[in-house]
Amino acid sequence: MLQDSIVRSEANATDRGEPIIRLDHIRRDFDTRGGHITAVDDVSFDLFPGDILCLVGESGSGKTTVARMAAGMLKPTRGHVFFEGKDIYEMNKEEFGNYRRAVQIVHQDPYASLNPIHTIGDMLRAPLLKHKICKSRAEATKRAGELLEMVDCRPVENFIDKYPHQLSGGQRQRISIARAMTLNPRVIIADESVSMVDVSIRVSLLNTMLKLRNELGVTFLFITHDLAVVKYFAWEGNIGVMYVGKVIEYGRTPGIIGRGFHPYTRALAAAIPEADPDLTRSKEKLQLRSLDIPKLTELPDGCVFHPRCPYWIQGLCDTTKPPLMRMPDGRLVACHAVQQAVERGDDPRDLAVTDQLANQIMRE
Ligand code: SF4
Repeated sequence: MLQDSIVRSEANATDRGEPIIRLDHIRRDFDTRGGHITAVDDVSFDLFPGDILCLVGESGSGKTTVARMAAGMLKPTRGHVFFEGKDIYEMNKEEFGNYRRAVQIVHQDPYASLNPIHTIGDMLRAPLLKHKICKSRAEATKRAGELLEMVDCRPVENFIDKYPHQLSGGQRQRISIARAMTLNPRVIIADESVSMVDVSIRVSLLNTMLKLRNELGVTFLFITHDLAVVKYFAWEGNIGVMYVGKVIEYGRTPGIIGRGFHPYTRALAAAIPEADPDLTRSKEKLQLRSLDIPKLTELPDGCVFHPRCPYWIQGLCDTTKPPLMRMPDGRLVACHAVQQAVERGDDPRDLAVTDQLANQIMRE
């Protein structure tokens, strides 16, 4: 079995040329009031044109820190970020500017990311004129209208002269996406960008972003805590599941959601609500030993998930970090028990719960 700490796009197996973005063993440390923490540790992946990659994990898993490093907003403590094959921190000013324009970020909070004193038209025209994409105000207004159409803000006249406070949360997030599109980006990093809008309009926002990917070939790095959103948005893409700073499982979305191998992935998938109550009842229930996520200042030895894991192997999981290993179906998983099951020729999901937990379950 191939040990592989580089998480590569599944499509990397076929030659797709140079990735647009490559994160190569990036790590990010912070000194906080509580002590020194490593928010992201040894994360690597490639993004090719038209890819959708979702990074999923609970709060504190490091996914937003990864997104900020991929967007050039935060320098890794270790490792490299490459854009079209070039290390972004070795670029000259012009190259770095091109990279920043090509990689746009849509934030979680549409209320905070739009300037309340400017109209929507002003907000869209400003970057078009500043970066000389349009030569005149009239041309920029025409393009602003096209961008509003692109993100399904119709009729345009109902939006272009409005201020952000005159729009709903979902409409404001569409404006954020339109603004990100002004510079014709190749990559959009969407950081929890549908989590603050009502469930009822979440799907239509996701559809708008999928349209940008399908019709314009925009690549998406999608950050979310919600596996149900991933299931909808990235069914044709890849998922990287993160847990306290590390990617613990990576692969094609249907395989990860439908049949996750890592115990943490299985716990997340079990929590996805289903419309059909029968389906919900028939889903795997994974009983964790603890619901508490460890503090980044006091990470446990060995596998960081072991204090919560129902399958932990005493003497191994609590002493030795599991490396990310390639599984027979191509996915990558960091788990001793899964690796042992595969080596035995067993189903990687057929793991034995710890004696402690088995006793607890029996008592219940
Ligand atoms: Fe559980 Fe051990 Fe796997 Fe960690 S390495 S997820 S503790 S079985």
